[in-house]
Amino acid sequence: MSKPQIGLIGLGTMGAALAMNIAEKGFPIAVWNRTGSVTQAFHAQAGALAQRIVPAATLSDLVAAMQGPRAIILMVPAGQAVDDQLAALAPLLRPEDLVIDAGNANFHDTNRRARGGLPFRFMGIGVSGGEDGARHGPSIMAGGTAGDWAQVAPVLQAIAARAEDGTPCAAHLGPDGAGHFVKAVHNGIEYADMQMIAETYGVLRDGLGLEAPAIAKTFAGWNRGLLRSYLVEISAEVAGASDPVTGGPLLDMIVDAAGQKGTGRWTAIEAQDLGAPIPVIEAAVMARNVSARRAERAAGEALYGPAPQPLSAGLTLEDLENALIAGKILCYAQGFAMMTAAGQQFGWALDRPAIARVWRAGCIIRSAMLNDMASALAEEPGRNLMLKPFFADLLRDTMPALRRVVAAGALHGLALPALGAGLAWFDMMRTARGTANMIQGQRDFFGLHGFERLDGLDRPHGPWAQDHNEKT
Ligand code: NDP
Repeated sequence: MSKPQIGLIGLGTMGAALAMNIAEKGFPIAVWNRTGSVTQAFHAQAGALAQRIVPAATLSDLVAAMQGPRAIILMVPAGQAVDDQLAALAPLLRPEDLVIDAGNANFHDTNRRARGGLPFRFMGIGVSGGEDGARHGPSIMAGGTAGDWAQVAPVLQAIAARAEDGTPCAAHLGPDGAGHFVKAVHNGIEYADMQMIAETYGVLRDGLGLEAPAIAKTFAGWNRGLLRSYLVEISAEVAGASDPVTGGPLLDMIVDAAGQKGTGRWTAIEAQDLGAPIPVIEAAVMARNVSARRAERAAGEALYGPAPQPLSAGLTLEDLENALIAGKILCYAQGFAMMTAAGQQFGWALDRPAIARVWRAGCIIRSAMLNDMASALAEEPGRNLMLKPFFADLLRDTMPALRRVVAAGALHGLALPALGAGLAWFDMMRTARGTANMIQGQRDFFGLHGFERLDGLDRPHGPWAQDHNEKT
């Protein structure tokens, strides 16, 4: 075997799976893990692939085991661990070597590292799909220069998931932190998709009184239609699973407090900085935070009584399916619009159809609808997804159901923050004459901030300006 040109640091859940995937696709790979016993155990368990894997006892051994130009993938926790590894590699690598941070870095860190004078080349890539994706085909969102991409594209495209048309779900999306930025938006959308499914589950359970097995069947049915996606598919499986302890539905035994590693929050914060509205994602982050406050929620229920009430007037299962379709379109419209804003802010030419295509397989938000999104985004690039003819038709068909579901939720104490946020955003986005004239009037009243007039006259203040001037 020739000396590997690919190396990998960090044989945890993701790193081990990626290394196996790379070896399986025929690329020799050198690996190193901070805890040496993990490296040994990984190599010992690699079976037939062990012959293509070179385990290294030290970082220097890893570098020495490889031939240049090297490409070393870091799969360690985001933040300080990445900076520590880059510092440790600095004296060992040559300028033409490339280090690839494949963890969930904050894209601002990737920008800093890519621009910040490391003595080797550096690129950041977002990898999605969890352990199974990493092992059998993730979705890969690459940043970095075209030259960086050219060096590693053969490996990354070989290990990536394949869309139904056979295209690898790995693409170069822009310089510096562009790949990690797109991964962050992906994770924000993931939070929102999950939240909207959970909200729909809540209506089925508390509003319509369905038991978990019936909810599983409902989701499984939806997974054969427009909502076909990994997250709807696994929601059906989660709802359908039995608890080996009680024999009842496992879902009914799971504590209702959602965990998070913070990537959804990063997306929400970034959207605020960009002035890009992503209310569905923000609602999903908020909902996870509220879910964690179990004791306060219990105290609230003890004081006010439980919020959810059975629905008195009928919502149909079709209403709920259509509401979820509409919510999904609105959430993606917001996410893709955020990418447009980021592209303008950071000078990135983010190829939105390519991003939709990369998400079609391998990642957690993979879904049938992404094919149509890729096609729609390719027409009139830059235009909001909700204004594209294909999705406008779908929204015309499904928005009445979203409105009925959100209204029923409001009347019956069924909290639908993400679906409701989508509806409010949609209504604002189709209101030519909004209500911010009142806000401009208020701002001028207390702060003389001025306003523009509809008739274009140059009279930027209201009559209160005179009082204001007299008082000050
Ligand atoms: P794990 O916790 O399973 O593994 C972490 C790895 O990093 C271990 O090999 C660990 O080594 C090593 N490590 C931890 N701290 C340091 C350090 N300070 N210096 C050097 N090595 C260190 O994490 P994952 O594999 O789940 O995640 C890795 C990265 O991938 C993260 O950025 C994560 O956000 C991202 N990611 C994870 C996904 C997932 O589904 N799990 C999906 C997509 C991205 P040791 O054995 O010595 O502790």
